[in-house]
Amino acid sequence: MSKKIFKSILFVALCVFFASLIFIFGIIYTYFSDICKSNLRAQTSLAACAVETNGIEFLYKIKDDNYRFTLIDSDGSVLYDTSADNKEMENHLEREEIREAIAEGIGESSRYSKTLYDKQFYCAKKLDDGTILRLSVSQTSVWVLILSFAQPIAMVVAIALILSFILAKKLSLIIVKPINEIKPDSPEEYKSNEELKEIVPLLDKMIEQQEQIKRDKAEIEKSAMIRQEFTANVSHELKTPLHVISGYAELIENGMAEEKDIKPFAGKIRTESARLGLLVEDIINLTALDSGSEDSPRENTDLYRIVENAIDSLSTESEKKNITVSLSGSQAVVNGIPSVLYSIVYNLCDNAIKYNDANGSVKVDISKSEGNVILSVTDTGIGIPDEDIDRIFERFYRVNKSRSKEAGGTGLGLSIVKHGVLIHNGKIDVKSEKGKGSEFIITIPESAVL
Ligand code: ADP
Repeated sequence: MSKKIFKSILFVALCVFFASLIFIFGIIYTYFSDICKSNLRAQTSLAACAVETNGIEFLYKIKDDNYRFTLIDSDGSVLYDTSADNKEMENHLEREEIREAIAEGIGESSRYSKTLYDKQFYCAKKLDDGTILRLSVSQTSVWVLILSFAQPIAMVVAIALILSFILAKKLSLIIVKPINEIKPDSPEEYKSNEELKEIVPLLDKMIEQQEQIKRDKAEIEKSAMIRQEFTANVSHELKTPLHVISGYAELIENGMAEEKDIKPFAGKIRTESARLGLLVEDIINLTALDSGSEDSPRENTDLYRIVENAIDSLSTESEKKNITVSLSGSQAVVNGIPSVLYSIVYNLCDNAIKYNDANGSVKVDISKSEGNVILSVTDTGIGIPDEDIDRIFERFYRVNKSRSKEAGGTGLGLSIVKHGVLIHNGKIDVKSEKGKGSEFIITIPESAVL
């Protein structure tokens, strides 16, 4: 960056310097041209005076490399010229300075000479006898004058170049220094720095990025912690039924179980195996949701149908406790992942039966409102204490551990529900009163696209 700034400063300095040089040369050129012309005018007057006094012979004696003298007759024919053969020279009557001299006594012009191939300044004066004396000088004499300035100009150029180089280098370092001193992890400290006023938008972006990094870091740490906790909980939850199973199996194996115990022991082993099965199934479901189920193909799914299927699957459980399960509402299609939608409905209905009292009831209602499908599951069960409502969606959180285990709960059902609802861009509300019952309300957009 400092290299770029250095180059830009040097480039600008050199541009300004050469522009001023050209400008100064222009002024010097005009100045010396004017001097040349006024000298020419003075020389012409003097020479005219000399020719009028001494005749044409005066011109024969002139040996001057700078000035060219030409004597022209009033008819335009060249009588004498100090640089060319007058006999070969064409009629000069049409030359601007000659015409002017004939008309006004004195004439001036400048043009490229055919014979001498460079720009010439001309000055002509009409003499008393009607002839015209013309003096000319080459423009190169102006350049000769300018070149006499070449040495000091070259010195000025050299000094200016060295100065521009040194200043550009210093300036670029001065500009870059405060930027280099910015600590990337605390850009907010520099916002009040006057020197860095121009890069405040960059500082703002750095601050925003730092905050994003902090947020991302916190999120990564949080999810790592949740995963670690989950793994520890999973192994603990798996171990419990396995211990029960191996304990009863060992009793039978060692012949320590009496004949009458074998049947209840086998029953315990079966119950615990079933619990193990449910646990593994829930873990698999949750892991699938964790590892990007949101990318699964979405289909238009009728939630009413899904509830019908879930109620049907849970009929044995509801009948066992004599719980009436009713469904109201009508077809409600959402664009979602059918298996995840089924898990949501199944877990909510399962809980409504599990945590219900015998002879209780479960009401499921499906309605539509403002582009959303609303699923409500109400039970007349044990309810959830206020202080636990916020925590029931945590993995393995149970209000009453023994009641949950007794009812075959894994502690993962509502985590699956919450995760599933979130990937459908929906929300969950819970209303519950201890001892009276609970209502879980799920709102999912019909389009359900994230
Ligand atoms: P579990 O497998 O234990 O049912 P969940 O994640 O489904 O796990 O639910 C977490 C806890 O929330 C349950 O253990 C229970 O204490 C409470 N809970 C869930 N649903 C209800 C409900 N309908 N009525 C009362 N308590 C409930």
